[in-house]
Amino acid sequence: MNEQRPIRTARELIDAGLVAPGDEAAISRVASRYAVAISPAIASLIDRKDANDPIARQFVPNAAELTLTPEERADPIGDGAHSPVPGIVHRYPDRVLLKAVHVCPVYCRFCFRREMVGPQGLGMLTAEELDAAIAYIAEHSEIWEVILTGGDPLVLSPRRLGEIMARLHEIDHVKIVRFHTRVPVVEPERIDADLIAALKASGKATYVALHANHPRELTPEARTATARLIDAGVVMVSQSVLLKGVNDDPAVLADLMRAFVETRIKPYYLHHPDLAPGTSHFRLSIEEGQALVASLRGRVSGLCQPTYILDIPGGHGKAVISASTIAAEGGGCYTVTDFRGQGHAYPPKA
Ligand SMILES: *Cc1c(COP(=O)(O)O)cnc(C)c1O
Ligand code: SF4
Repeated sequence: MNEQRPIRTARELIDAGLVAPGDEAAISRVASRYAVAISPAIASLIDRKDANDPIARQFVPNAAELTLTPEERADPIGDGAHSPVPGIVHRYPDRVLLKAVHVCPVYCRFCFRREMVGPQGLGMLTAEELDAAIAYIAEHSEIWEVILTGGDPLVLSPRRLGEIMARLHEIDHVKIVRFHTRVPVVEPERIDADLIAALKASGKATYVALHANHPRELTPEARTATARLIDAGVVMVSQSVLLKGVNDDPAVLADLMRAFVETRIKPYYLHHPDLAPGTSHFRLSIEEGQALVASLRGRVSGLCQPTYILDIPGGHGKAVISASTIAAEGGGCYTVTDFRGQGHAYPPKA
């Protein structure tokens, strides 16, 4: 097996021991529909002896992806509804997404942008499109934060990233640059001095949101890569998706959040899975999600608490969907539920 380049085809998956030879036809069908890539770091992290390995489940294509359900959407979070120019999504007044590239080093089987990313996806912005996207940011003085996502922006070369950052440097009203990426986990070797210098070249406060869903993803190599970023002055937050068969377990979720905090990454968002096509085998109910999120409160440090989020289909933005712990009883009185599930009157009854 060649460990130096990503695994992309059904044949390569079989050769790598990740797919049974009898499944070649079905997996080829999945791969022709949705992009496949498993980086060497991820391939070596997969436990081939575990039929339910949570890393394999995230990255190895599965025939279940051919099942579509009526509620699923090609554009589940409505990016298209808020895209004034190619590469920009402007849904909230003070921040925009800048999607310079629609390629990733790995393709997550539950990806909410699976219809847009990959070799058959939207590709890279042309030079003219990138000019227009940057011009849009420069013309809108209400844009305080630019969020580079995609795709995975860290697949760009340090030179290309540095060029984009140099152009953001010229825009005074932009104060924050944020990157959403999986690279420190899936290609930790990319996080070198050149890439870090490029990320910081805007001179703005620089945030990196790391996407990881299982504690085993925070390997020693990943922790070294993120430490390099943080030591260089980049602030890191986490972003995870709650996924059936990956992290829908109180102990796994607690370990994941602790792994982030041990790595100096502040848990930020835990997303309820989006209604992306062919992903119903990953979805749990909102009630199950609420119970899992509530299980963290009190059991693990307050530093380890992410915010549970749903991206409302149709482009209406994100909503916090944790179960409420407070119920109004009228007359200024409330019942507040503690982490053991016990209710208390507030203010306390005399
Ligand atoms: C998720 C998202 C953001 C970022 O939201 P935060 O709550 O600031 O993390 C910004 N713009 C769009 C279009 C988004 O989908
Ligand atoms: S890294 Fe992000 S954009 Fe790329 S496949 Fe995974 S979820 Fe989708």
